[in-house]
Amino acid sequence: MTACPNCAQPMRAHRFRAALTAAPVEVDACPTCHLFWFDGTESLALDRQAVRALFTVIADSARQDRRALDSALSCPRCGKRLAFTHDLQRSTRFTYWRCAAGHGRLTGFHAFLREKNFLREPSAAELARLRELVRQVNCSQCGAPIDLARENACSHCRAPIALLDPDGVARTLRELDAAAPGSGPAAGGGDAAARAAMAQAMLDSLTASERERHREGRRGIDLLAVGAGALATVLGLWMR
Ligand SMILES: [Zn+2]
Ligand SMILES: [Zn+2]
Ligand SMILES: [Zn+2]
Repeated sequence: MTACPNCAQPMRAHRFRAALTAAPVEVDACPTCHLFWFDGTESLALDRQAVRALFTVIADSARQDRRALDSALSCPRCGKRLAFTHDLQRSTRFTYWRCAAGHGRLTGFHAFLREKNFLREPSAAELARLRELVRQVNCSQCGAPIDLARENACSHCRAPIALLDPDGVARTLRELDAAAPGSGPAAGGGDAAARAAMAQAMLDSLTASERERHREGRRGIDLLAVGAGALATVLGLWMR
């Protein structure tokens, strides 16, 4: 059992077959705090199934009240304080907390999606479309409310509004397939069809989430959680 370094509740364990290593990867997730814990120091070589499963975990967090992060977080294995770390992969900047003794690293859902190149900022046209569909969103990085009519970024943590990027997801899945030929190709046509299907699924899902938010009187929706749910569904259809 892994206790969440932020809320101390048991994290949910997810096991995956990794794309490039023989041993399965174990990932722990806290949907309340939007955190993943990855044991060890090996890079996160995930396959298509794992990406889909992690999207499902992220999507589930949309239905929970989010808990703010403490300023000091400790390693769930040794109890020592985790070091906040800035990293760079290709041209993508992202952050996480790591145990200096090498027990593992703690990554926010938002930072994980950024690290994997799954995020991008919406174009002007997409932002206009978003404003028609959705009134208020919660910042995917810190959870603070963002008024879409007035703001393009979170006034609390300055994270810009980000969407899951179907291009980035399609590109990464292609690379995963190339690295692990055994995992099987995507059905349902080429990249253009894949991107279009993912983009449409995200729009449909946003519209449905906004309706649900109204009905249940919830605060803003989390664009990434909604997008992750839509993409998990699309990926599931391809993998049958
Ligand atoms: Zn937690
Ligand atoms: Zn440790
Ligand atoms: Zn924020």
